[in-house]
Amino acid sequence: MPNNTNGLNLDPKSSEKALFGMSLADLDVLAADLAAKPYRARQIYEALYRQRVSAVDEISALPADLRQAIRSAGYTVGVPTIVQAARSVDGTERYLVQMADGETVETVWMPDGDGGERGDGSPAASEEEASPEEEASPGSQQDSASPAFRRSTICVSSQVGCAVNCQFCLTAKLGIRRNLTAGEIAGQVTAVLNRHNVSIGSSRGNGNTARINLVFMGMGEPFLNYAAFMQSVRLLVEGVGIPESRMTVSTSGIEPAIRSFAGEAIRPKLALSLNASNDLVRESIMPITRKWNIASLLDAVRTIPLKTREWVTFEYVLLGGINDQPVHAREVLALLSGMRAKVNLIVWNPGPGIPYTQPSPEAVALFQKTLIAAGMPTYIRRPRGRDIYAACGQLKRTIDLKPTPDPNSNPDPNMNPNPSMNPSPDSNPATIGPLPPVPAKAPALVSIR
Ligand code: SAH
Ligand code: SF4
Repeated sequence: MPNNTNGLNLDPKSSEKALFGMSLADLDVLAADLAAKPYRARQIYEALYRQRVSAVDEISALPADLRQAIRSAGYTVGVPTIVQAARSVDGTERYLVQMADGETVETVWMPDGDGGERGDGSPAASEEEASPEEEASPGSQQDSASPAFRRSTICVSSQVGCAVNCQFCLTAKLGIRRNLTAGEIAGQVTAVLNRHNVSIGSSRGNGNTARINLVFMGMGEPFLNYAAFMQSVRLLVEGVGIPESRMTVSTSGIEPAIRSFAGEAIRPKLALSLNASNDLVRESIMPITRKWNIASLLDAVRTIPLKTREWVTFEYVLLGGINDQPVHAREVLALLSGMRAKVNLIVWNPGPGIPYTQPSPEAVALFQKTLIAAGMPTYIRRPRGRDIYAACGQLKRTIDLKPTPDPNSNPDPNMNPNPSMNPSPDSNPATIGPLPPVPAKAPALVSIR
C-alpha cells in the first residue's frame, strides 16, 4: 500500500535517526555497519521493545564502546514522549504524545477496557465473559463498573489528523498533517506502559501485570498508513509481547488495504466503521463511500480468513434521525447476514461545530433490540472519558480546543446509567495541563492544571 493520500507525501521529514521502530532485520544491518557481532542486534531489539529503554546508555547489555558508536552514528532511541495528560472521572487518561519533530497525537488509556471486546471471541472477551462480576449478555449495556484493575485498553493513533473527512468526527476537522512511523505508532503503547509501570509477559510479582488490549482507533485512518501500521503491529506482537488476538484495528473502509490485511500472517482483529445501512446515508456522513461502497467493503471483509472464535466487528455510530431507525437496523441485518459478525453501537459523541444530534435512548434501545432479536450479537459501547474529550471521535489535539463544557448543564439522556462512569455532578470538567503523576489508587476525580 502506498503511504500517501491524494498524492501528498505524508512521511515525516525528521532528520532524527530513531532506533525505536527498527525491525530485527534493520538492527542486523546496523550491527554489521558498526562492525558489531550479529547477536548485538537481538540485544538492542530486546532492550528497545521488552525492556523499553528510553536512552542508548540504558542498553546495559552492550559494551560502552558500542553504545558510543551507536550514538556517534547519530542514533537515539527516539521513542515518543507523553507531554500532557488529562484524567477523566471514569479513570480514562488521555495523553498528548509528542514526536521528535514536535508533532503531537493523542493516545488514551482505559484502565478497565473499552467494553468493545465482549463477544468477539478474543481472549479479552473470554475473560470478560467468564467474569462473574459483569453479566455478559449481548443485550446488556457494557456499563458495569470494573471490580478491579483487570484488563486495560490503550487506544492508539496512526496519523497526525485524518484525511477521511467523516462528517460526524472531530478528528476530521484537523485535516491530515502526516503519517506516523511504525516506531511512533508502537511508541505510544510503550510510553503508556512505562507510565503505568506495566510489565508484559510475566504473570507474577507486579500488580500492574495487566492484560493489555490495543485498539487502533485513535486519530487517523490506519489503513491509509498501512505499511507503517502493520510494521508497528509486528513490533508490538514480536517485540513488546502483546498478542495480536488482543488487538483490534478500526478502519473507515479502505478496500484495497482490507484485501492486503486479509493476507497478513500477523494481524489484529478487524473492526469496520459501517455507520450506515445503505450507500446513500453513508455517502452523506462518510464521503469516502463514493470511492468504496458498502458492497465492495463487505466483499473485501469476506476475504479475511477468520480464526476460531474470531468475529468481525461492525461499528455503527448512531446519529439522531439519520441512521438510527428500525428500518436502518433491518438493513444492517440484511447486509451482515451470513457473516460472522458482531455490531458495536456507539452513541454519537458531540463536538463543537458538528451538526448532528444524539439519538434518543429509546431509539438506541430499539436499534439494539431489533438486531439482537434477529440473532446478531450487538453491544452498546459505553462512552469513556467523555468529560476529557477522550471518547470516540473526540481525539483532536487538545491545544486546538477549549475545555469541555460541563456535561451537567445539559443533561444527556445517553450518559451511562451507572453514575460511576459519568462525570460527578460536583466535579469540574477535567482539564489538560502538565503531566500528572499516576495515582496510587484511582481517584474519584483528578483535575489537572
Ligand atoms: N479512522 C478509523 C479509526 C478511528 S475512528 C475509523 O474511522 O474507523 C474510531 C471510531 O470512532 C470509528 O468507528 C468512528 O466511526 C467512530 N467515531 C468517530 N467520530 C465519532 C463521534 N463523534 N462519536 C462517536 N463515534 C465516533
Ligand atoms: Fe478519520 Fe476515522 Fe474520524 Fe473518519 S471517523 S475522519 S476515518 S478518524
